[in-house]
Amino acid sequence: MTQETPHETLSNLLQESRRFAPPEKLAAAANVTSAAYEEAAADRLAFWEEQAKRLHWTAEWDTTLDWSNPPFAKWFVGGKLNAAYNCVDRHVEAGNGDRVAYHWEGEPGDTRTITYADLKREVSKAANALLELGVQKGDRVAIYMPMIPETVFAMLACARIGAPHTVVFGGFSADALRGRIEDCDAHVVITADGGYRRGAPSALKPNVDEAVAGVDHVRNVLVVRRTGQDVAWTEGRDIWWHDLVDRQSEEHEPEAHDAEHPLYVMYTSGTTAKPKGILHTTGGYLTQVSWTHHAVFDLKPETDVFWTAADIGWVTGHSYIVYGPLSNGATSVMYEGTPDTPHKGRWWELVAKYKVSILYCAPTAIRTFMKWGEDIPAQHDLSSLRLLGSVGEPINPEAYVWYRKNIGADRTPVVDTWWQTETGSIMVSPLPGVTHGKPGAAMRPLPGIEADVVDDQGKSVPNGGGGFLVVKEPWPSMLRTIWGDDERFIKTYWSRFEGLYFAGDGAKKDDDGDFWLLGRVDDVMLVSGHNISTTEVESALVSNPKVAEAAVVGSTDPVTGQAIVAFVILRGEVVDDGEALVAELRDHVAKHLGPIAKPRQIMIVPELPKTRSGKIMRRLLRDVAENRSLGDVTTLTDSTVMDLIKDQMPAAS
Ligand code: ATP
Ligand code: MG
Repeated sequence: MTQETPHETLSNLLQESRRFAPPEKLAAAANVTSAAYEEAAADRLAFWEEQAKRLHWTAEWDTTLDWSNPPFAKWFVGGKLNAAYNCVDRHVEAGNGDRVAYHWEGEPGDTRTITYADLKREVSKAANALLELGVQKGDRVAIYMPMIPETVFAMLACARIGAPHTVVFGGFSADALRGRIEDCDAHVVITADGGYRRGAPSALKPNVDEAVAGVDHVRNVLVVRRTGQDVAWTEGRDIWWHDLVDRQSEEHEPEAHDAEHPLYVMYTSGTTAKPKGILHTTGGYLTQVSWTHHAVFDLKPETDVFWTAADIGWVTGHSYIVYGPLSNGATSVMYEGTPDTPHKGRWWELVAKYKVSILYCAPTAIRTFMKWGEDIPAQHDLSSLRLLGSVGEPINPEAYVWYRKNIGADRTPVVDTWWQTETGSIMVSPLPGVTHGKPGAAMRPLPGIEADVVDDQGKSVPNGGGGFLVVKEPWPSMLRTIWGDDERFIKTYWSRFEGLYFAGDGAKKDDDGDFWLLGRVDDVMLVSGHNISTTEVESALVSNPKVAEAAVVGSTDPVTGQAIVAFVILRGEVVDDGEALVAELRDHVAKHLGPIAKPRQIMIVPELPKTRSGKIMRRLLRDVAENRSLGDVTTLTDSTVMDLIKDQMPAAS
């Protein structure tokens, strides 16, 4: 990247003038009002101390933040608490044992209702089981599971005894699982025979067998029976969950752990590089996930039904299926399967069935629903919804508006939440009762979060400027390090700008000072001396009614330095008429963003390469556009996608 001034480094091409005010009723009853911004601005640490009081502490902290050895932060030093107690027992003790914690739905349609009292029993039994296996405070436990209630029981059992969990997404290969088990030196692996995916049982246990073969530090594999499929068995190592856990006592006295005791290690999605083992600790993490869940989703535990439609194997699942909702005593929906099994209206059927009031999902899902067409959600009663959220990638303005209109009946606010595995919880987001939302903008840093957009020199850019998203002050749920690799932690996040956390994402501030995320810094294109963000060109393409999804990359060009290459998925009903359509789309981009942003090539493709968490992997498309061999594909969902795309690519220009 050249050393240009920030306004030029990321251009502000896209103009978006639509605004959505909060519904009056929601605003009047909102959990958090604009006063929170003022309180936090007046005294940030006092603000977080106040939020920490949402939790039950066995011993109060003596230091709110110890930042004496940056970038290694310690929050609520001296405080003691148990995360599982906070998520489970205290709700039962407060008389809410009968409240539903999870409406669980299996893909084949089987259901389970888990109350807080059930959760307390199951988590206590699982904690006793882990103790019987010799798991001690501080030992790591790997969890490789389908989306079933036992996954939550296992996580909370670990938290309860102070054994950090590392949940590995069930869609990962044996190799990926082995890498993570070895990296964090896990002693026990909890898994299942399999789970249901796309209408059929999908085995998990064989991957575990392969992953732990020859790995001496794994003493036991604890196996939940979910699908009933045959499993290979290693005597002495493998144990059925129902044999061990079912006979345990339902009583387990939770021990209070230090606020900085490790809660879990979660590996990043691997969109840009080899996944990093992100370490989160207990007190600060739970404080911020609890407060953000309360504030950003305006969660009313007595009446709301909350659904994060993501996998627990991602940080979104950790923070907003497990720790955030449970710490707030919420009722959540948990769904095992895919959105198109047995039909493409499955999510909407679930919203209607459980009267979901708050839905949180990823732009990749929203764009898929756009592709499938709006008549599918229209067949279901979605009137219970009052708030919608988005996370994981920039949401294209058109996808935001589609989501609001077709899922939210043009009535619900949409909160576009920016955060990362590393940040632990939401950092930049509208507040639904306060913010006048702009489609495509994550808007403002939350109260208590000092995020900014800076130039190459780390200087704050004025409104209207673009640059790099940074966080200027420590926040409670920040990562504490990369597991076992302090050096990579410092190098990755704290070396780009002195004293600032570097998120790796490009962003701009509009004329009102609101934040727009522009994609990964690595993805920015330099075309004829202009830096152009992939996100803006993608959003321009998606604003054409024929386009459902687009991915844009820069490819070497003899004339312009880099040229824009776009990969486009069409909406369901659109017919691909070849040249004419490509010409139309190129002109569409030129009209929206200016001639400089006109793609050199547009490829109509059936699918895009995505990580298993649904993020577009532009680095692979760049490899294709540049005619290189593909880089690391271990986190790619479906490798045949790349063959389909390569076939479509004309010989290198
Ligand atoms: P890796 O760090 O291994 O490359 P990853 O960054 O995809 O993987 P995650 O922590 O799951 O792993 O994703 C965080 C990233 O997702 C952010 O840095 C940002 O690029 C993107 N992101 C998340 N939410 C938003 C959002 N609301 N708007 C724009 N981008 C978002
Ligand atoms: Mg990342």
